[in-house]
Amino acid sequence: MKIGVLSLQGDFIEHAQMLSELGVDPVAVRLPEDLRELEGLIIPGGESTTIGKLLIAFHLLEPLRKFAIQKPVWGTCAGMILLAKDVGTDQPLLSLMDIKVQRNAFGRQADSFEAYLHVPVLKNGETQPFPAVFIRAPRLISVKNDAVVIAELADGTAVAAQQGKWLATAFHPELTRDTRFHQYFLKLINV
Ligand code: GLN
Repeated sequence: MKIGVLSLQGDFIEHAQMLSELGVDPVAVRLPEDLRELEGLIIPGGESTTIGKLLIAFHLLEPLRKFAIQKPVWGTCAGMILLAKDVGTDQPLLSLMDIKVQRNAFGRQADSFEAYLHVPVLKNGETQPFPAVFIRAPRLISVKNDAVVIAELADGTAVAAQQGKWLATAFHPELTRDTRFHQYFLKLINV
């Protein structure tokens, strides 16, 4: 199985390493032709405005949107912002998921934090909390249509969503040793 990792900016290497650990061939996506033969794509964390500008410069925005309409895509942090239809600011987006997102919702880089989340969709998700790393992270303000919240902080702040084959997490599973989110994404590809 070939899974792409958008590799323009951000922590794409960590995603690729985790996919390799799970026995999947990660493909670095930088050009439209890199999307050929992929069964899914991960958009990493980084800086969403920078990634958006690079998507335009590399003529990838439209090809990526077309790809995502047919195939599973998972965005982490900046990737979640790029998947959202509404981020409250004017920046290049894929605008696919019916989610409203607030960027930098927890403050500055220095306010980065870790939290243990109950994520029922994951394997043992009810009993074994997921270690979530938040770095200048966004939060979900609302979801609509068939988008659903799949993880919340203890105070009820929504931080992960799924809409069919699209997945968005405000945090960075690729920066932990816990592979369950990557496994969950692989499962979405296989169903
Ligand atoms: N703050 C970044 C943005 O708005 C996202 C941070 C991240 O991906 N860790 O794009």
